[in-house]
Amino acid sequence: MISASDDHPDLSLVIPLYDEEECISEFIRQVRSSIDLLPFSYEIIFVDDGSQDRTVEIVIDFCKSDPRIALIQLTRNYGKEAALTAGITHASGAFILMMDPDLQDPPERIVDFYNKIREGYDLVFSTRIEKSDSLIRKLTSKIFWSTLNTVTGLNIPPNLGAMRIFSQAFAQEFLRYPERVRFIEGLFMSIGMRRTTIEIENRPRFAGVSKFTLKRRIKLATNAMLAFSDLPLRFTMSLGLAGVLASIFFGLIIVFRKAIFGIGLLGWTSTVTIIIFFGSLQLFVLGLIGNYIGRIYTEIKARPVYSIYHTFNLKQDQGSEHVDASGQG
Ligand code: UDP
Ligand code: MG
Repeated sequence: MISASDDHPDLSLVIPLYDEEECISEFIRQVRSSIDLLPFSYEIIFVDDGSQDRTVEIVIDFCKSDPRIALIQLTRNYGKEAALTAGITHASGAFILMMDPDLQDPPERIVDFYNKIREGYDLVFSTRIEKSDSLIRKLTSKIFWSTLNTVTGLNIPPNLGAMRIFSQAFAQEFLRYPERVRFIEGLFMSIGMRRTTIEIENRPRFAGVSKFTLKRRIKLATNAMLAFSDLPLRFTMSLGLAGVLASIFFGLIIVFRKAIFGIGLLGWTSTVTIIIFFGSLQLFVLGLIGNYIGRIYTEIKARPVYSIYHTFNLKQDQGSEHVDASGQG
């Protein structure tokens, strides 16, 4: 049933950790009690994304007593997307499930994801039935997803949850996407293959605080839009063209007014306003273009998406420290 020595478990759980010391033990306890007795083998790959608290120590302790638990410790904080990419790269299971350890995603539903994907899908998304987030958070996330879908044409389901499962084939396809700025939801949608969604109930965080502040969310949203669409650039061109046409039109009106009625140009205020308006518009557009160029710069440097400091109990990696008590890696 539980084949710890198995190099390829049926299921790999990939769990990103950033200062989650309060959640880990309870998360592992709930995962074990949900799937230990089920007829498939599993591994849990924790990816430490540069935690400052006792996260790493706690996970290593678990690695010592359970060879199914592995840790990839990154050299610093790279962001959740990079952490997940590291985990997916090293996950050897036939299916890979990613979820957050803060118990907002219910471990008792892992089995439902597993059963669903085995019906013949490559990706099973989750949508959250009732978000226990604040009204502001719900509203901003609604605006975010609908704008994003309109701009990118991606068709990402609203209330998308972090918990999802996919096949090894899907993972391999995902890993072929080389971009540094990785908007995982968008990448997942653009891969295609057979997919479906299941609903999960969303709960408040077990402990600790959310790592995604408003500032990080805005950054993520901008990243997502600019990474998946050049619509802003094209829109800018149309805007410029409309401005040119409008100014020709108004210019003609002024000329005719002067020629026919002898009325000269009145109004400094309007002139200055127009100058400021177009001046700022040009700056804005320049900034927008700069943003895309910045992205080219980031991508062209082709720096690693993440760097690994240490690994423990990792099956695939020969350099991994195997810390199980029995001493047999
Ligand atoms: N996370 C991470 N790196 C980061 C930020 C977050 O690995 O830079 C992890 C975090 O530990 C958690 C998950 O991403 O497992 C989701 O974060 P959080 O629960 O804080 O976000 P929320 O659920 O509030 O959107
Ligand atoms: Mg959370």
